[in-house]
Amino acid sequence: MTRRDKVPASEEMRQGFGFEEMEPPERARAWFEALFTRYPFTAEACHEFRALRLEVGDLSREWGGGFWWGDRGLVTVRGCQDEAALHELAHAFWHTRREQPGVAAAFLDAVVRLSEERSPRYARAATLAGHYVHGIPSQPDPNSPTGFWRGMLVEGNDWEMFAGLASGVMGNMRLLPPYVRRFYQGLFEGAEES
Ligand SMILES: [Zn+2]
Repeated sequence: MTRRDKVPASEEMRQGFGFEEMEPPERARAWFEALFTRYPFTAEACHEFRALRLEVGDLSREWGGGFWWGDRGLVTVRGCQDEAALHELAHAFWHTRREQPGVAAAFLDAVVRLSEERSPRYARAATLAGHYVHGIPSQPDPNSPTGFWRGMLVEGNDWEMFAGLASGVMGNMRLLPPYVRRFYQGLFEGAEES
């Protein structure tokens, strides 16, 4: 890989990752454009994402990690890991949709149902949902009253569950049951199929 010039990091890149420099905007955007073609994002979602600031720290590293800066319309990712970008873009998509009446609560209900799903086809998603709903007793969390990570249901954290499931199945709607898939309509192709 050839050495490529970078530009000074944005304020958010410094804050989020401690980076002094980042990929130039056009290179970051080109990387996101390629990502849009590798995963089944809808045209509508891509259109929306193009209106955001999209920043990448270092494209030569497949580092995970990213942030959605909701008040600034900004997605930042640390490296070139697809999973991280999918996750942050899902946050961006859900940001306003979750505020429609009843939507966040209905999504939480669907995740609880998913945690009890027995179909082997949805096993990966069901396992993730189980962690969100019940926590992980083997994962210590000093801030938790139980001493272990209690999951996200106790906090009503629909936004992290939404993004977690999106990147958990890497946008493949066939891996989510219809009652969860439907919340991803407009984000990923195949979400409308029952
Ligand atoms: Zn997240």
